[in-house]
Amino acid sequence: MNQITPPALFVCLQHRHNGQQLRVIQHSPDSSAPMLWAMDAQGKLHELPMGPELAGTWHLHDAPVLSAKDPARILGCLLAGAAGDALGAPVEFMSWSEIERIFGPGGIRTMAEAYGRRGAITDDTQMMLFTAEGLLRAQVRAEAHGLCHPPSVVHHALLRWLLTQGQSPEKEMEPDGWLVKERRLWARRAPGNTCLSALAASSHFGEQAQNNSKGCGGVMRVAPCAFFDNAFELASDSARFTHGHPSGYLAAGLFADILHRLWQHGYSLEAACTAALAAHGDLPGMEETRLLVERALRLYQSGEQPTPRRIEELGGGWVAEEALAIGLWCALSANSLEEGIILAVNHSGDSDSTGLIAGNLLGLIHGPQAIPAHWLSELELKDVITQIAADLCFVPLRYWDYDDTDVSDWIWQRYPGW
Ligand SMILES: [Mg+2]
Repeated sequence: MNQITPPALFVCLQHRHNGQQLRVIQHSPDSSAPMLWAMDAQGKLHELPMGPELAGTWHLHDAPVLSAKDPARILGCLLAGAAGDALGAPVEFMSWSEIERIFGPGGIRTMAEAYGRRGAITDDTQMMLFTAEGLLRAQVRAEAHGLCHPPSVVHHALLRWLLTQGQSPEKEMEPDGWLVKERRLWARRAPGNTCLSALAASSHFGEQAQNNSKGCGGVMRVAPCAFFDNAFELASDSARFTHGHPSGYLAAGLFADILHRLWQHGYSLEAACTAALAAHGDLPGMEETRLLVERALRLYQSGEQPTPRRIEELGGGWVAEEALAIGLWCALSANSLEEGIILAVNHSGDSDSTGLIAGNLLGLIHGPQAIPAHWLSELELKDVITQIAADLCFVPLRYWDYDDTDVSDWIWQRYPGW
């Protein structure tokens, strides 16, 4: 290992003598005393000095996943979600016959051009990143002030996304934090009208949308909620800032809850779906979502394989419960992450959102190594997505209000608590 260059985020280090394995989740910004932080299989944080001591004790090791709660699964979830979004982006508005005519009978399988480049992410990934940022700022706020309503802080983050779309919220606000300063996010990628208009109309943080929309713009952005307690409530409450129909926000809650069970308990996807339905399926307003998720489960259990035509039986994915059901059926049925995402983008409906949902699920299950390298090499904003994933692992473990080192200050600068 080079003694000066820090090992890349999410690489695995193995102890030269006792074999212990750690996952790198952050680099210190202090170049005079460079450090890195890594997490062990039990979720404990280790602070390692850089330089000869590090190289003498640890070497790089290739470990796919260390445990159910390996931070690499968080990276896999976000990165594979973005890859599914980017793979689906060129065909979002195409019917299956158009896709087949342009890309052949196997459909789209490699990154193609959308928005002027290959591997372009869309509004789905942008909003997923701002949701993650909001959750981190809520975490910092709760630690610093004790009092915090996390969904309202997520709402604030979504309003920063609105600024990147060239629109101003009714409420005046400072575009602070590092994410909104990332110029590559200031790009319109067919943002959903419901999201734009609901956010533009909101007059205070935490105000629920005054519409009856159940578009998939709520469910497609909530994966980061899975890595916090109360994933269901966090996701459904934050989807409700843009989508007022129960299917619009409850499908988001159910999706985050399924992801949370995969991550927290290492369930199989089928078991996670069944447990999530048992916990939340009887809520008032959940009827449509429950019906479609149960249908996706039955299709999988009876050995039916998703095809572009059969996916249409679940709908086009333009609304939340359909997008969730399509993403689930493709993820359940696939033999690999690559196959599942390809199934999820090749149909006449909302390919980028269903690709992102299948990608979030399969990336969490299989880890980032399962994502085809030829997709990743072209994926836009890979560095930003990786940094957000690392911060989702690091910030909740390392931000303390009463901290005499400058690490908490540094975190506060990046994720100010409001
Ligand atoms: Mg999109």
